[in-house]
Amino acid sequence: MSDDSLVDVADAVPFALPDIGEREIAEVVQTLRSNWLTTGPKARLFEERFAQAVNGRHAVAVNSCTAAMHLALEAVGVRAGDLVYLSPYTFAATAEVVRYLGATPVFVDIEPDTLNIDLGLLADRLENDRLRGSGTSRVIMPVHISGVPVDMERVWNLARQYDLAVVEDAAHAFPASRRGQLVGTMPEDVTGAVCYSFYATKTITTAEGGMLVTPDAEVAERARSMSLHGLSRVAWSRYSAGGTWRYDIAAPGYKYNLTDMAAALGLVQLERASEMKEKRELIAARYDKEFAAFQHLETPRVPSDVSSAWHLYVLRVENEQARDSLVSHLQRERIGCSVHFIPLHLHSYYRDTYGYLPEDYPVATREFGRAVSLPIFSAMSEAQVSRVIDAVSSWAGRFDG
Ligand SMILES: *Cc1c(COP(=O)(O)O)cnc(C)c1O
Repeated sequence: MSDDSLVDVADAVPFALPDIGEREIAEVVQTLRSNWLTTGPKARLFEERFAQAVNGRHAVAVNSCTAAMHLALEAVGVRAGDLVYLSPYTFAATAEVVRYLGATPVFVDIEPDTLNIDLGLLADRLENDRLRGSGTSRVIMPVHISGVPVDMERVWNLARQYDLAVVEDAAHAFPASRRGQLVGTMPEDVTGAVCYSFYATKTITTAEGGMLVTPDAEVAERARSMSLHGLSRVAWSRYSAGGTWRYDIAAPGYKYNLTDMAAALGLVQLERASEMKEKRELIAARYDKEFAAFQHLETPRVPSDVSSAWHLYVLRVENEQARDSLVSHLQRERIGCSVHFIPLHLHSYYRDTYGYLPEDYPVATREFGRAVSLPIFSAMSEAQVSRVIDAVSSWAGRFDG
């Protein structure tokens, strides 16, 4: 290429792009030539390697994180009317899977620093629900926003105290750790699973895909069976030599299995996960350093004992008006940006079904109003990072004089 910087000035900076190299392409092509396209040896190998990468015991590869969370809730025995606890500051998927099973999503507000669920409020709410007995409290669903892990020691203690399962939405959190403990590690005495996303824009991708990781062999077995029509035996071996045609339908399951084509991508992406994370860390460090100069910009507050996956870089400004102004400015500068997240209680379905008001979750409502996600992806060039910094700085400079 003749001049990268000229090209970059002319072109838009995308909000997110996958980081696919020749090795990924070769691995997918090899899978196509192998004639085994759907769930088979590559999916099994991806499960093994992913479980190792997160210190997990059992892993079940599926076609999305949404599917993984649905299967996890089903496997831990969520029933209609049960209460499932999560923050409203998340994507549609985390709560919709609760509704799939007829259970009730109980929203708990967030802490302003990390944008993760406020565990003090969660403890209060669990105690209140126990006293009122208005439903069976069943599961806590922590979401590790941006890749900053929730304090899981505290969540596990609440789960033990109130006899709850834990299903983690780790869509942003591969690889991430807190106090040296990787997201994916779950103690044996806690029932539940950790669910990952390999959607195109996530930290590693299989185009569409997900993984359920659990210390519990029964949860893994149930999820695996339900991911493939509730068949009693793992049916990918049905068509291989030595496989049998006989199977039993033990439950009306779903169709959530991951293809070998997708797993082929995942195997290479998994090997590159640390290298890609280091690139995102460098981008975050550059943003942090440059934006520290401006009073009107708040950079992400990552606890000192956390290694974030840096799936998102959520910048915060003074208020909603400033946020909208920054978004318009970035759009004019042709820089992709986004807002994470429009809290679930503000969406028509949850508002109309449960009668929520914006002020029911004041921290989520306020922080959403002043949040802007900037591009942070491993395939980003230095020139692209500089363009984002220049555009944000020129906007912020108007206020700081
Ligand atoms: C992307 C995302 C999901 C859904 O992941 P899929 O693999 O697309 O199902 C769930 N939760 C959060 C917080 C996400 O950002």
